[in-house]
Amino acid sequence: MKQFIRISCAILCCFVIAACGQNEAKPSEPAPQKKPAPVTKEEKPPVQLGTDRNPDTLQIPVLMYHSINTNVKNNLITPPNEFDAQMKWLADNGYHTVTLAELDALLETGKNVPDKPVVITFDDGYQDNYTNAYPILKKYGLKANIFVITDKIAKNNHFDEAALKEMSAYGIEMDSHTVHHHELNTLSYEEQLKELQDSKTVLERLTDKKVNSICYPVGRYNEDTVRAAEAAGYAMGFTTEPGKANKNDGMYTLPRVRMVPGMSIESAVK
Ligand SMILES: [Zn+2]
Repeated sequence: MKQFIRISCAILCCFVIAACGQNEAKPSEPAPQKKPAPVTKEEKPPVQLGTDRNPDTLQIPVLMYHSINTNVKNNLITPPNEFDAQMKWLADNGYHTVTLAELDALLETGKNVPDKPVVITFDDGYQDNYTNAYPILKKYGLKANIFVITDKIAKNNHFDEAALKEMSAYGIEMDSHTVHHHELNTLSYEEQLKELQDSKTVLERLTDKKVNSICYPVGRYNEDTVRAAEAAGYAMGFTTEPGKANKNDGMYTLPRVRMVPGMSIESAVK
């Protein structure tokens, strides 16, 4: 506040000095006619910021996808045309996709929440996230997040480092799905911590960005998992339990909305 007053006084002094200077130099000249400022292309309306909401009641859907592929063998695989229609629906209906880093701040503070916020996540880091989902996300200008199993990068049907880096540079956030995809509740605290720390280190090296979220493989976790996630430096942990995310769920036990083939996107986000 003091600094604000000091800055205000300084600005006021500048105006007074400038005005005095004008008067001394040209005492008899009439004040110049003020013309309306020309409207230029640079003069855009201010960016529409979000509204402040009560973080205790704020609930944001975090959609959980896995594979986006025509070869639908199980309910973890969504066909690309269906995914395209879902993303188009979100874009056409005024939804705002937010990254997990953004979600962290929204859930904690409730400040500047965009209209109709939604988070898109993919588990496991499948190759088709790059070949099928990524072009669709780009087409509609949507943000998304991928939970990567770091030991699977470039193996079998998982995308490689080049694809990971390209998507990260575009703005798709890379987060951890551990190193080996073990069910964490079967591991000791030290083993869990190592899975969480090592995967975070690899992803931060590849993306040069902070990795803030972990998603527990097969949704399995225990009290040690929550402690290890916090100790490893994550801000949020995600389960496969159903529901919209609210900070009172616990920032390390946040639920998601499972997307299965044939599911209505409208019902998923409402
Ligand atoms: Zn998984």
